[in-house]
Amino acid sequence: MKKKRIFVHKCDWCNRELILNGKDSDSYVINGEFKYFCIIQTRGKPAERDCLKNYLKEIKKKNEYPIKKKLEEKKEQEEKEEEKKEKRLEARPRVLAKLDELNKFLKR
Ligand SMILES: [Zn+2]
Repeated sequence: MKKKRIFVHKCDWCNRELILNGKDSDSYVINGEFKYFCIIQTRGKPAERDCLKNYLKEIKKKNEYPIKKKLEEKKEQEEKEEEKKEKRLEARPRVLAKLDELNKFLKR
């Protein structure tokens, strides 16, 4: 009789070994990054163990603040750049006018 191969994969959140197939298989979920997470839930009851949820919660916590801050910093920088550009544009005609005056003066 051919023995069925049992596949295992560690949970990417709690490192528990998950049995992926066979009669003793654990229930698990795979997310979009092909990471494995255990999930133990009886129908109609809150999950006893939901590693994907914990993982997502942690990611959210890690990402939320820096992204928001980065966006704000970027916006601030863009505003400063805009200001610089405006100042440069303002300054230019004045310099040209001065040059003009100088040329007139030299020609005299
Ligand atoms: Zn787990």
